[in-house]
Amino acid sequence: MLSKVETQHETIDADIVFAGAGPAGLSAAIHLRQLIDRHNLTSPERMIEEPELLVLEKSRHSGGHLLSGALLDPCSLKRLFPDFIERGCPVETGVSDESVWFLTRRNKIPLPYLPEPFRNDRSLVISISKFGSWLQRQAEELGITVLDSTAVMEPVIEEGRVTAIRTDDKGTGKNGQKKPGAEPGLQINTRTLVVGEGSRGSIFRQLDERFGLQPQNVAQIYETGVKEVWKVPEGRVKAGDVHHTFGYPLPSSVYGGGWIYAMTDTSVSLGFVSTAEPDNPTIDPHWNLQQFKLHPFVTSILEGGSLLEYGAKTITSGGYHAMPALYGPGFLLVGETAGMVNMQRLKGIHLAISSGMLAAETLFAALLNDDFSAEGLKDYARRFEMSDAHSELHAARHYRQAFNDGLYSGLVKAGLKLSVPGLKRTERSSPKERLKPGNRAYESFVRKRENFRPDGRLTFSRSDDLYASATRHEEDQPCHLKISPDDISAICAVQCREEYGNPCQYFCPAGVYEIDHDATPVLRLNPSNCLHCKTCDIADPYGIITWTPPEGGGGPDYKTC
Ligand code: SF4
Repeated sequence: MLSKVETQHETIDADIVFAGAGPAGLSAAIHLRQLIDRHNLTSPERMIEEPELLVLEKSRHSGGHLLSGALLDPCSLKRLFPDFIERGCPVETGVSDESVWFLTRRNKIPLPYLPEPFRNDRSLVISISKFGSWLQRQAEELGITVLDSTAVMEPVIEEGRVTAIRTDDKGTGKNGQKKPGAEPGLQINTRTLVVGEGSRGSIFRQLDERFGLQPQNVAQIYETGVKEVWKVPEGRVKAGDVHHTFGYPLPSSVYGGGWIYAMTDTSVSLGFVSTAEPDNPTIDPHWNLQQFKLHPFVTSILEGGSLLEYGAKTITSGGYHAMPALYGPGFLLVGETAGMVNMQRLKGIHLAISSGMLAAETLFAALLNDDFSAEGLKDYARRFEMSDAHSELHAARHYRQAFNDGLYSGLVKAGLKLSVPGLKRTERSSPKERLKPGNRAYESFVRKRENFRPDGRLTFSRSDDLYASATRHEEDQPCHLKISPDDISAICAVQCREEYGNPCQYFCPAGVYEIDHDATPVLRLNPSNCLHCKTCDIADPYGIITWTPPEGGGGPDYKTC
């Protein structure tokens, strides 16, 4: 049981708190428990007292907010659970056939040769959402407490180190009033906080502001992945078919591409990744996915099928050079929060598991030596440097930055493995000029969207797609998208409208931002549509939108993707 201490908030203690029940956080908790159990069995004379391990998850269940292309390299899972199959790990199938295509508007051209890093022949097709739920069950069987519907709102920093976290208040109304049954969040004191919130988490952002975790000279890069899961007629795919695409519908100046994974003979997960960057905010990830489905190759797979699920997430894609510091006083970063995604292989789940296990080994040593000082936690960085995860990320270190100059030069550099001198992002023509209302490029961008009529069978509007994400939030709560009223009136209504044409209307895959053009243009927010992808926090060109977690339990409810 957690011990209770009287303070202003209800305060509880846990030895280690894991913020986020994704593959990284759950693997860290599971492996730490495995190491302690093994140790206590083999060295009873140095028995470690059972620590309180507490995993906190903002969604309604582990896996509820997990959305990904979901090809799993099982290398690290085999280390965590050599018997993962016998334990009922939800593997849909193995990769049986794979191709990479360059798409023109009507045709597809195969990549004649698949370089080793692009190959997936050892990978498994999984539903990352089901995988997250399964990992939660494994953790709970080991006695680890997983609290769902609980958002971690802020770290508590005392004397220069993280000593606790605060969770979300329940029952606060839109205007800050307390509703019947309202409960303040908990303060949870901890010896170490393990942060595994995925891409662009709010705890990471606060720690970065306080401790300067992101490298000074290399900006992090993000992409937005938008995905649909479909039931398709028999004969269109075989379970394990994997397709990756580049080219159409993106211009060569924009990084991104598509994927289609056959989970069974009659179900596919398909999606499209578009870069999310403030210097080109009129990227429309939802529209890109709809256009992708209109390619004859993709249409031939989906036609006559039906949409099962929709979702979106950002992907931390800067790779090795853009990784933040992995530890700080009182905390460790794991998984995507630590930048552990290999964009060359379009994979991160195995790295998330690896980083969780390395964090667990560090925490085990800290428990054994009773040393949770920053010096003790530093061992995590050393362990990472000696690991396979490090070798893999280091080998792919130039990949994503190679595409900063556009698709073709990126392909040459990445394909030929040329070294890329310098990592500074290349400036393209001024986006403000390009995207201004009245500029021809901008007008054509807007016109294309206005003229697009989803047919409701193959292509969908944002609101129709949103229905398939099962997103829901408590309506009467403070808006979790923080924009100051001054910024709304001065920047959104005037400056951004002039300079960029309010791109939030396009980059949000959930239609949360709407501009009401009656009389004076007004920004209207629909926060209960939010998919928690964080694209707005990244792509907003003025940096005036801050995404914060809404009341725990809100958000999408992914089940199969
Ligand atoms: Fe994503 Fe922001 Fe839109 Fe929510 S409001 S779906 S975080 S872009």
